[in-house]
Amino acid sequence: MPLYEYRCNDCSAVFELLRPMADREVAAVCPSCESRASMPLISRVAVHAGSGSDDSPSMGGGGGGCCGGSCGCGAN
Ligand SMILES: [Zn+2]
Repeated sequence: MPLYEYRCNDCSAVFELLRPMADREVAAVCPSCESRASMPLISRVAVHAGSGSDDSPSMGGGGGGCCGGSCGCGAN
């Protein structure tokens, strides 16, 4: 399950949350003020495709990472 970062719009707290890809856009409850007005930040998990670092053997494979089912590209 990917780890996402969110920022609370009310108190500006940044917090992390492990949740399914499908729930990424769902507002997360801020642990500081319990507001639901949070926005997902750009995940640091995201890979800059084509940036030159192409030496990862697991990239693009079906074993894990993006195509392991968490991104929805293999889900139905
Ligand atoms: Zn908050």
